[in-house]
Amino acid sequence: MLNGPDGIISVSPVITIHLATGNAHKVQEMQALAVASALPLNIVAAAGMPPVTEDTGTFTGNARKKAAALKAVLPPDVWVLADDSGLCVDALDGAPGVESAYYAGPAGDSAANLAKLVAVMRAVPPGRRGAHFACVLVLLGPGGTEQVFEGRSPGTLRVEPAGGLGFGYDPLFVPEGFDRTYAELSATEKNKASHRGRAWLALAEWWRLTVIME
Ligand code: IMP
Repeated sequence: MLNGPDGIISVSPVITIHLATGNAHKVQEMQALAVASALPLNIVAAAGMPPVTEDTGTFTGNARKKAAALKAVLPPDVWVLADDSGLCVDALDGAPGVESAYYAGPAGDSAANLAKLVAVMRAVPPGRRGAHFACVLVLLGPGGTEQVFEGRSPGTLRVEPAGGLGFGYDPLFVPEGFDRTYAELSATEKNKASHRGRAWLALAEWWRLTVIME
């Protein structure tokens, strides 16, 4: 709702954003983030997300590719948002990074990825277990305008996984300022600390200043 210069109160219309992902966890997190930011947004999972080969070597490149693939099959006036994200481990020179989804092989098996990381990191001592999650959001607007937002969450890796919430590498990662893993945090706590939550904050600020104020 906006209080205009002439004193007239106008209500911003609810805008739908189509998410370029087949990952139900990302959809849930993004929907909760939209609600928490109190923006007039309706976040929907893409119907008919085309398959995309994530081969650009960067989070931004991959997110761009996913956003463009979905945009190409939807009407030109819709909003599309893609997320590319991953876990970058200091002791592994940033791996698995942009390859996080395929760390244990092309099948993209989350449990196998987590088990591989646990095994690779088992001998790494406490002082060298630093890591961060990174997220890049690419937002395409009607007419093809592009905005890129980034978020990062630093932390450390546990030796043994803990917690049953979330997805992917959540049971191994303890974000800075917490003594529990992402998989032991409530959805609200994770969204406040997470790479995706931080990228979303940047998007929300841009949306308030640019789309709502237009
Ligand atoms: P993407 O779908 O190509 O962006 O791959 C993201 C991969 O990074 C996922 O399959 C997970 O392995 C990992 N990842 C990204 N965000 C998270 C998160 O919030 N928690 C746990 N793992 C994540």
